[in-house]
Amino acid sequence: MSRPVFRFAPSPNGRLHLGHALSAGFNAMLARRTGGRYLLRIENIDPSRAAPALEAALIDDLRWLGLSWEEPVRRQSEHFPRYAGLLDRLRREELVYPAFMSRGEIRAAVEEHERGGKAWPRNPDGAPLYPGRDRALGEAERAQRIGEGKPFTWRLDIEEASRRIGRPLFWREARGEDLRDWRENPARPELWGDVALASRDVPTSYHLAVVADDASQGVSHVVRGKDLFEATAVHRLLQELLGFTAPAYFHHRLILGADGRKLSKSEGARSIAAWRAEGAAPADVWEAVGLPPDEFRS
Ligand code: GLU
Repeated sequence: MSRPVFRFAPSPNGRLHLGHALSAGFNAMLARRTGGRYLLRIENIDPSRAAPALEAALIDDLRWLGLSWEEPVRRQSEHFPRYAGLLDRLRREELVYPAFMSRGEIRAAVEEHERGGKAWPRNPDGAPLYPGRDRALGEAERAQRIGEGKPFTWRLDIEEASRRIGRPLFWREARGEDLRDWRENPARPELWGDVALASRDVPTSYHLAVVADDASQGVSHVVRGKDLFEATAVHRLLQELLGFTAPAYFHHRLILGADGRKLSKSEGARSIAAWRAEGAAPADVWEAVGLPPDEFRS
């Protein structure tokens, strides 16, 4: 049997915090315990947010924590032609369409609808589903708008995509962190509506790149935070449309801030860098996230 493949896939949009340490650590620990491989993937598809200095800092923090991974590190920014090829395939199969509504237009459409007293459907993250009006635009109209330089995103026609698959989808989810006990979790991609798969200028979104790379890298186990649990439904659908083998999943607990809310870099959660600056040892960080420090001593 081939070795299990785990990966830690941070987006270098800010300094790493405890939530990242937990995810990186879980993957490293499970790879070690199962005799598997451990990969690092830098999810830097957003050129406006991912600074090279942040990537270097991230790698420095991970090394300090005692982690090591297989080289070379994969950077999503180096694989745009691959994502563009996959997008093209979905376009030829008429599963994606150029969506022209701006954020403001979406908001206005939702408000107008809700003034009528009925709630507009929202995705599991609480954002309104894309109204999808331009799904029905003709080729000529699309070409004209694109020609005029109107900004757009490529969106997946979720209904049509699900219809083509024609059967309910599931993913394998571990019941516990020892990855021994599994269940088949029903995937409901329709909860997300027509998700964006690319913009006019960047040929991928998180959903497309993560699915493409997990397949390219032969990832067998996706271990990541519970905040991405529901998004897995979209990933399953994309895997099916693109003919990729689905990995197994384990969505681990999250580290919550003092206010009980999810930690996030932008809200100023204390970074690993701050722990280091205050003289903490890696073991202190592992203890803080609830992983056994002994797992990470080289
Ligand atoms: N890059 C994503 C993040 O930092 C995680 C992707 C994944 O593990 O699927 O939130």
